[in-house]
Amino acid sequence: MIISASGTCMGCLGSNDLLPYPSKGRKNGASSETPLHLALYGVRSDAGAVLHYHGCWTVLAGEAGRSGKWVPSMILPEFAEFAAGEGICIVRRLPPGSDELADEAAAAAKCNPAHGLILRGHGGVVWGETPEEALFAAEALEETARLDYLYRGREWLFSGKEE
Ligand SMILES: [Zn+2]
Repeated sequence: MIISASGTCMGCLGSNDLLPYPSKGRKNGASSETPLHLALYGVRSDAGAVLHYHGCWTVLAGEAGRSGKWVPSMILPEFAEFAAGEGICIVRRLPPGSDELADEAAAAAKCNPAHGLILRGHGGVVWGETPEEALFAAEALEETARLDYLYRGREWLFSGKEE
């Protein structure tokens, strides 16, 4: 696996910011979310690339979903179907970088028809056959969440209060 180094800027990744895992001899180690990435590659044979991000609209969608799932409106169906299908699983709030988060995300990803998961109170994690497809999944999820909030945000205010 190749993964970003801890503390790198995702908006300006260079080849020096990517390292093989496991690796030695670098000042910065691998991303703190290495367990999450490893767990998802382990259960998703269709994942050639996994991206994790802290998109604010995705975080907000994590507060709107009931029963561990968020189903977006289909006002932009092409994006919504790709991003979330018939609903995207929400992994409960767990410490970032923890093995517990990795284990629960892997369990949710096994039976998830969408291209990603929402990590409640944290962000999104998406996958694709290529890095470009994974990036599209992240953009689709973030934009679907934004559109959905603008379209029916009042419903969100009353729907996601359970913990
Ligand atoms: Zn994170």
